[in-house]
Amino acid sequence: MDQLRHFLATNSQIRHSSPGSSDFEALREQVVIQETRNPGIIVRPCTIEELASLVKVLTTNKLPFSVRAGGHDIFGRTQIEKGVTIDMREIHHVDVNKSSHTARVGGGITIMNLLQELQKHDLTTPHPVTPSVGYTGWATHGGYGILSSHHGLGVDQIVGARVVDAQGNICDADEDMLTVIRGGGGSVAIIYELIIKVYPSKKVLAGFIIYESKDLTSTARLYHDNYRNLKIDSIPPALGLYETVIHAPEGKSFATVLMWSSDDLGEGQQWVDKIIGLAPVAVNNVIETTILAFNEMTAELVDKTAYATIFCPGVYDLTAEVVDVISTYIENKPPHPGFTFGIHELRPEAPRECRKSVFNARDPHFLIEIIPMSSSREIFDELLVWAQGFNNALRKTDPDNIYPISYIPLTPNEGLDFKVIYGNRYETLKRVKEQYDPDNVFKHALVQL
Ligand SMILES: Cc1cc2nc3c(=O)[nH]c(=O)nc-3n(C[C@H](O)[C@H](O)[C@H](O)COP(=O)(O)OP(=O)(O)OC[C@H]3O[C@@H](n4cnc5c(N)ncnc54)[C@H](O)[C@@H]3O)c2cc1C
Repeated sequence: MDQLRHFLATNSQIRHSSPGSSDFEALREQVVIQETRNPGIIVRPCTIEELASLVKVLTTNKLPFSVRAGGHDIFGRTQIEKGVTIDMREIHHVDVNKSSHTARVGGGITIMNLLQELQKHDLTTPHPVTPSVGYTGWATHGGYGILSSHHGLGVDQIVGARVVDAQGNICDADEDMLTVIRGGGGSVAIIYELIIKVYPSKKVLAGFIIYESKDLTSTARLYHDNYRNLKIDSIPPALGLYETVIHAPEGKSFATVLMWSSDDLGEGQQWVDKIIGLAPVAVNNVIETTILAFNEMTAELVDKTAYATIFCPGVYDLTAEVVDVISTYIENKPPHPGFTFGIHELRPEAPRECRKSVFNARDPHFLIEIIPMSSSREIFDELLVWAQGFNNALRKTDPDNIYPISYIPLTPNEGLDFKVIYGNRYETLKRVKEQYDPDNVFKHALVQL
């Protein structure tokens, strides 16, 4: 660390914080309390030159480092004990190019800040359900969200990247490196900025539909039976749904988050009515709004920090057997508030991959997120037992229906089999990794071969 301290002393403009500094605890904070690590120092570059010179010092002196942005990795893999954290959050610019429908976005920006900046230009872009997430970590590892069926996954928004490579050089990612950034995250470079696709931000219909849930099991079964029938005629890509359970004033309730994101709000309202018709409704607060305003509302619903973990089994289909398990476990969920269950669906209508990537989970499938989460350790422990039972029961359903590709950000290291995850794209990932990072400088990235 002495070499780093000497470097920081002679480059005093580079912000940094050490244990004992007044801002250290706030900077160290990650979303999941029990997974938050104790780095030896946090360095906060503001420019690509600062980032590049920092990487040169770290690699020359073989100092262990990790890269963080939004701090949402649920298993805390973003920082390392006693290591150097490169905190990207000072790099959060957004430069819009209206003619190419793209924006250059800083590698440390959060979804919320990105949506706020884009809205100033009447633009928007796909995003996850929780806007405090870092954009780069979300988009480069896959990027599921409520606009996936309309505009594609986060990974498919990436058009270009400016990076600092394993030698500390500044460069624009070439096609090989971009292919790996799309699905391989920060495994071959630190991403200073991404160039991403942006879309006109018009009015959308968005909100929660909360179903009558006195008998939660029956409600969930009815919803799924009717949803399955609705899908037979195919659902327009502009309709995004994220099924969840919320704690409404009436108590624990089955609900769906809905967003209709195309211009034809009349057609959108017809689809809202169809989703309302899936089961008896207690509250419908779907309104005409903007994507930004909707995200500002949902931002209030999730704790900034909490005790949490996740189980994230994937299935090809919500079969009757799977729905039975879901219904039973949401009925039995301990009655504590908190974000504990949600389903992302990658529908067949979702735009296909249009650029090369190593992201391999391209078949239509459902990601079932079971998220014990609470600011109280005791409640978290109680929810954890419930979540483990839920996960085990889902994994015991028909093996042919289990989706084999785990979602890296939502899977603990011991559950990651990269050969299965990347399938026939694994060799590309390996070749590009060997070419750009032969010494495995980025050994603390999520993807490790
Ligand atoms: C509450 C919550 C809700 C979520 N919702 C969704 C969702 O709806 N859809 C979905 O797909 N995922 C979701 N996720 C998962 C989330 O997208 C990933 O965990 C994502 O990687 C988090 O990025 P981050 O920057 O916030 O986290 P960090 O922990 O800071 O970073 C995560 C990883 O990305 C790497 N990274 C970040 N920035 C850079 C960079 N500039 N250069 C190189 N590497 C970088 C880090 O090194 C780290 O390995 C959610 C997670 C949480 C906790």
